Amino acid sequence: MIRHPFETPPAKGSGVEIAEGVYWIRLSMPLGLDHVNIFALREEAGWTLIDTGLDVPEVRAEWASILSDHLRGDPILRVVVTHHHPDHVGLAGWFMAQGAELLMTRTAWLTARMLTLDEQPIPSPEAVSFWRSAGMDQVRLSKRLDNRPFNFCDTVHPLPLGFTRLDDGAVHRLGGRDWVVHFGQGHAPDHATLWCKDAPLVLAGDQLLPSISPNLGVYPTEPMADPVAEWLQSCAKFEGLAQDDQLVLPGHKLPYYGLPDRLRQLSDNHHGALTRLRDHLTEEPRRAVDCFAPLFKRQIDDGTYGLAMVEAVAHLNHLYHRGEVTRDMDAEGAWVWRMCG
Ligand SMILES: [Zn+2]
Repeated sequence: MIRHPFETPPAKGSGVEIAEGVYWIRLSMPLGLDHVNIFALREEAGWTLIDTGLDVPEVRAEWASILSDHLRGDPILRVVVTHHHPDHVGLAGWFMAQGAELLMTRTAWLTARMLTLDEQPIPSPEAVSFWRSAGMDQVRLSKRLDNRPFNFCDTVHPLPLGFTRLDDGAVHRLGGRDWVVHFGQGHAPDHATLWCKDAPLVLAGDQLLPSISPNLGVYPTEPMADPVAEWLQSCAKFEGLAQDDQLVLPGHKLPYYGLPDRLRQLSDNHHGALTRLRDHLTEEPRRAVDCFAPLFKRQIDDGTYGLAMVEAVAHLNHLYHRGEVTRDMDAEGAWVWRMCG
């Protein structure tokens, strides 16, 4: 059973102590979900932060009051970033500029640094043909062609050189406790989760979220990736570590108990989606953008179209790598997927 011991989150721009020396902080997020969770671990002479929020004026203003009102004006000594996505890494470089050490997995650091440097004023030709291959309609495509796409550097502070690597299986002392790093995959490559050896606490990032399934997306960087397989493997691996009495501290939504059940739900969600997708393709061959209905239980609007598209490709790629579907390109440059045999 999944239980939430704290039903009411702290107001955005504030924090509350939820375990000895562990503060739960909420920051605004103007894109997608409306918030991100940050955890602050009390050190003797300051704080270690887990994730940082987006680098936008609203969130910087929230940090200013958190630092003075909730963290007693003590310095941020270290920042642990769970994965390379902007809502987590956004202000890491800003804290480093004020003297903090950065801890990340090597892949997460390289990816974040590459993407913040890789500024595209208009979409790359590879992105355009990737969108076309997913079946994006002409109206959407031409709207995107001449416009600045989402760029990491728009919401992520420049990352200076120099970080401390989090390795799979390594132990780090943070906030007076020892934590073991375990990598997760699927949502982001080499996503760090931290499992406390001295108390039943898990810093989960987006790998182990309650109530929402993190996005599993395929991008033009690696069009044949199979993040669904990686995700399912990670769920199976974490089942060997999960205990009912662990308080899981996630990157979004509410802290919870009941990780063994949550892991089963997370993998069941994708197995269910794959079954519905097979049925959908058995009816007739389809493009990725024709597969939203069986995959998502909500209406896809302009705001969620991009995420839905990359997740639809992810589930189709998974069936493809399993040898269950094959595909042909139509006259518009879109892959049309059909069941084998
Ligand atoms: Zn996130």
